[in-house]
Amino acid sequence: MAAEGGERVAIVGAGLAGCLLAVLLGRRGIAVTVYERRPDPRVAGAERGRSINLAVSARGLAALEQVGLRDQSLKQALPMHGRMVHPLAGAQNFQPYSAGGERAINSISRAELNRSLLDTAESTPGVTLRFSQRVTGVDVEAGALLLEDADPEPADVVLAGDGAYSAVRRSLRLDEDADFLEHGYKELTVPPRDGGFALDPDALHIWPRGTSMMIALPNLDRSFTCTLFWPKQDFAALDTPEKVTAYFERHYPDVAGLMPDLTGDYERNPVGSLVTVRCWPWTRYGRGALVALLGDAAHAIVPFFGQGANCAFEDCIEIDRCLTETGGDWPRALSLYQERRKANTDAIAEMALDNFVEMRDRVSSPVYRAKQAATHALERRLAGRYVSRYELVSFSTIPYARIPARIRRQNRVLAAAALGSAAALGLGLRALVRRR
Ligand code: FAD
Repeated sequence: MAAEGGERVAIVGAGLAGCLLAVLLGRRGIAVTVYERRPDPRVAGAERGRSINLAVSARGLAALEQVGLRDQSLKQALPMHGRMVHPLAGAQNFQPYSAGGERAINSISRAELNRSLLDTAESTPGVTLRFSQRVTGVDVEAGALLLEDADPEPADVVLAGDGAYSAVRRSLRLDEDADFLEHGYKELTVPPRDGGFALDPDALHIWPRGTSMMIALPNLDRSFTCTLFWPKQDFAALDTPEKVTAYFERHYPDVAGLMPDLTGDYERNPVGSLVTVRCWPWTRYGRGALVALLGDAAHAIVPFFGQGANCAFEDCIEIDRCLTETGGDWPRALSLYQERRKANTDAIAEMALDNFVEMRDRVSSPVYRAKQAATHALERRLAGRYVSRYELVSFSTIPYARIPARIRRQNRVLAAAALGSAAALGLGLRALVRRR
């Protein structure tokens, strides 16, 4: 493999991860060509079918900061300081994300974020963007990128950021498992009302309904994008506008009246799938080319912790870091990258699945709310020593893989302290009784 700068580097996919990586590599002086199957979304408009907005938090912001896009992205974002839970019966209630209520995750338009990254990539010397180029695979022995309706193109290093259904991953025939939830998702819109937001814009809204739920994130145009997460057969069951309206009036009564085009949206918008992809290894070393997967192509996760894009951005930062540490030695850098990231992406994949149960079910229970209040009280009391899982995932950049063990440790200490206090209280009471 040639020294850094000499090799032909291809990135597949000009999505969030592909663009960020192109900028990082371009800044290292590495010439890179990005192949994107879609036409340029800045000209053709954004593709529908993916989530319209995303929650970006500490990890994503830290990555964007590296390429000077943090502040610009925040200007295009709306902070959400907590969850607004809408139970079926009873009043909505606000649950702050952090103990002091000051921390927020940020609702940002996926299309705008992608546009900013594309603009930055395009203006980075050495980066070439090629749209409407569908990659079908990689011939690692010949060192060629295979394209639909075009001749193969030579490539020494291929970095595949082509999403959850990655063509590159499939062509490598890796050991992989794609685990689909029985739930799918569909997007609906709550438009502005009298020129303002129809719901509180400072919150991520959740309508927990047991096995299913709906969430809503605010947009800069004062609308909300709602996402229904339902078992797929439930979507199909509502097959007339009347059934849709009746269902929403019964199950989402406080928001049904805020969706004037509910039945149109419901009919038009597709049902997307939710998949967790686990595969290994993420790299393939052939005689002609070296390939590595990143972002959803390597580890798609379900969206219930709002971390897929944040995590994909972290991959890019890690690749860049590994190139620095190895002096630009691609094979060593990419094997270091996958070794460092795998445990982290496995950890967030599990936490994201677990958070689905929390969001659709637990958040509405009074016990859960009492536990949240107790957690925040502990966080205030033991600042820095007791930190909630949500805080560690969303408001820190500590590796995901360390979080479950840290939470277990904190809980053990807490249980021991509680037992200790109970024992001390017991002793105290016995002493008191003896004295009487
Ligand atoms: P993608 O964004 O999927 O980009 C892949 C790119 O590759 C696309 O541009 C695609 O057109 C291109 N491509 C695909 N195939 C080919 C091919 N054969 N040849 C050339 N190009 C190709 N994450 C968060 O952090 N916060 C959230 O709130 C959040 N909400 C979500 C809500 C939903 C409903 C879903 C489904 C996901 C959500 N995510 C969220 C996850 C996030 O969308 C993904 O993790 C993120 O987009 C991954 O980025 P990526 O660049 O790896 O892949």
